[in-house]
Amino acid sequence: MKTILFFIVLIYPLLSFANTADISVTKRSADAYILTPAYSTNIGLFNTAKGVVLIDPMPGESQLDALSARVKSIFSDQVTYILNTHDHSDHSGGNAYFIAGGSELMQSADTVAEIDMLTVKSHTANDAIFVHKPSNTIFVGDIYTTNWHPTFYAGGVAGFVAAVDAILNLGNENSLIVPGHGKPGDKQQLKLFRQNTLEWVATVKALSKQGLTVSEIKDNAEIQRILSKFNPENKIDFIPQPAFERFIERTLTVIEKGV
Ligand SMILES: [Zn+2]
Repeated sequence: MKTILFFIVLIYPLLSFANTADISVTKRSADAYILTPAYSTNIGLFNTAKGVVLIDPMPGESQLDALSARVKSIFSDQVTYILNTHDHSDHSGGNAYFIAGGSELMQSADTVAEIDMLTVKSHTANDAIFVHKPSNTIFVGDIYTTNWHPTFYAGGVAGFVAAVDAILNLGNENSLIVPGHGKPGDKQQLKLFRQNTLEWVATVKALSKQGLTVSEIKDNAEIQRILSKFNPENKIDFIPQPAFERFIERTLTVIEKGV
């Protein structure tokens, strides 16, 4: 018996640590939280008159129980509704888990008075932007990221600019802009992201016109300088080389398509 008790006492803190430590919680207001797992997708958690709403519930497969426990510890309630900024698995991968627990996946936020939704085409053909009005918090999915290069592959440059403009027209100067991944920011930072993205596209275009190959563009000092602007936290190995090359290739595809 003593041995078993010792085992429980020893193991319990470890289990609870593993269960919650990988999800950091940022309180925006009494009814609005941002949950950020080590998996890096920013998850929105809102208490509304219709119940608890969870945006992009994907903390990594092994952390779904921990996410559910976190929700209950914050609002002492279950998730009523799920919303997704887009259908990529790193944002929607936890839907089935919460649906199995009784939550409902909503295609629009129409019935939730506190949340406005609009759709644009930038990262995917169907990107949703959610505004939690009482806390002035805007969830924008992967239209905007602060720890990765931009990914405007569905809407091209025009779609990206239109999406960013749509976000800038929401809320006010104090709005918190929550990217799909990376630290939340404000409208000034989003404007800078737009400027850096346009500078990136223009430079890739110019170098390609000069006849440089993808590999030569990758080694270009100007291109590397621009890429580093998407790494405000100065992370080491921010973009692995194959991803860097793919980003150039996909940018060229967008340019060729002329969108
Ligand atoms: Zn994502």
